[in-house]
Amino acid sequence: MAAGTHAVGGRAAESNFRLERTGFAGRSPGALGGLRTVLRLPINKTLTLMILTVLMIGGLFAAAPLWGPFLTSEEMAFATLPMIGVAIAAPAFAGLCLLVRCQRCRYRLFWYAVTKRSHRDSIEWFLTAHQCPECGHSTV
Ligand SMILES: [Zn+2]
Repeated sequence: MAAGTHAVGGRAAESNFRLERTGFAGRSPGALGGLRTVLRLPINKTLTLMILTVLMIGGLFAAAPLWGPFLTSEEMAFATLPMIGVAIAAPAFAGLCLLVRCQRCRYRLFWYAVTKRSHRDSIEWFLTAHQCPECGHSTV
């Protein structure tokens, strides 16, 4: 992996470095800016990103009462779309809880994030952590 990403990873490594230097002293890690600096836990990232995408689509549908009235009928916005959204998001969320595991000890890392971390930092921890809290396996 190191050899393959070396050529394209120069700038990303630099921003990684900057992120680590600024640390977590109350700064948000820039949700839009650094996809390469997030999701560093020892998990199946492709699977996790796929389920997260499905979850976000479900969330978008579930939030239809907020944007639907401008685009579609009231029935769609307040009943049909939110139901579809929940039907998509609920299994996706369950999938994250069950399938996102440490690659070494199979510890459920997403489940850990939502149940063991405080509500405020659970998602931020999940996106920025790089070490399994159970076995200490780290990607860096
Ligand atoms: Zn582990």
